[in-house]
Amino acid sequence: MVVVMTPDATEEDVSRVVERVEAVGGEAFVSKGVVRTIIGLVGDVDSFHHLNLRSMAGVGDVHRISDPYKLVSRQHHANRSTVWVGAADSQVPIGPDSFTFIAGPCAVESPQQTLEAAEMAVGAGATLLRGGAYKPRTSPYAFQGLGVKGLEILAGVRETTGLPIVTEVVDARDVPVVAELADMLQVGSRNMANFGLLQAVGESGKPVLLKRGMTATIEEWLMAAEYVAQRGNLDVVLCERGIRTFEPSTRNTLDISAVPVAQATSHLPIIVDPSHAAGRKDLVVPLSRAAIAVGADGVIVDVHPDPEAALCDGPQALLGSDLRALAQAVRQLPPAMGRVDASTLTRRDKVVPA
Ligand code: PEP
Ligand code: MN
Repeated sequence: MVVVMTPDATEEDVSRVVERVEAVGGEAFVSKGVVRTIIGLVGDVDSFHHLNLRSMAGVGDVHRISDPYKLVSRQHHANRSTVWVGAADSQVPIGPDSFTFIAGPCAVESPQQTLEAAEMAVGAGATLLRGGAYKPRTSPYAFQGLGVKGLEILAGVRETTGLPIVTEVVDARDVPVVAELADMLQVGSRNMANFGLLQAVGESGKPVLLKRGMTATIEEWLMAAEYVAQRGNLDVVLCERGIRTFEPSTRNTLDISAVPVAQATSHLPIIVDPSHAAGRKDLVVPLSRAAIAVGADGVIVDVHPDPEAALCDGPQALLGSDLRALAQAVRQLPPAMGRVDASTLTRRDKVVPA
């Protein structure tokens, strides 16, 4: 941490800052410039926070140097993590070595629709099935999802296809039932800063897919991941799904640079959702190619056997030839980025929070 004194700060102001820092066991290194004095603090940053340095006489500004997040930071965890999803006999890795393709309907509507969408996903090479049983809808009049019935449908389709399932949980009270039936819990964009929900999924014992809030900075997103990790669950996968900008031609603007930025500061895997970013099916394939090229660890896309009849997000759901083009991209491009076939990987020990 660095304290920047104001140009008119007195020697006494500087001494009082140094004394306050040393009183909590920290060290303070004073450097006098021509105009300003700066004080470098070394020690426990959290204890410095309680000192209220910013409000002291002669203090102009206080800057933090280290990341505000710890467990998800790369500072003390240089190697990027792999999160394994699914039961012991069918585990799928999401991480830096392979590329994970997740596909499925936006919402679970019926057993038939979910099975058909899952078969489309399998046919295209997906190894995880997505599908919402609890839908976070902007309108309270829109289809809210089938709830527990939807979870049971997903579990049945997992039985038939063998694909582990990732599904959203929107309310902390539903975490136990969703964790019982799903392989991975999704926290959606609208709930990224629902701290009670983050803590609940942190205690669920299941891997978490944490979508970026549509107006969240990367730092806020990583702090949300820290909430999950702080409850003992480091099996968190980040998902960039577009942010709100002034550009109206897409539903959100896919922040492709968020992938390498997050990878530089956090060890967590990161995937991209081009469907919810664009809101248009014609952009899903090009954005998926971009995600692979930028170094994402996977993509998650919406597919539907009959998008025109979809109860949620039909315009962005892929079928037929679009899916063939996507299947080709996720087969051919990841090897060029140094990604290996996931079936060649074996599970390493789980990362346990320090
Ligand atoms: C979803 O994946 O179904 C979804 C609602 O996405 P997001 O939270 O990114 O809008
Ligand atoms: Mn959707």
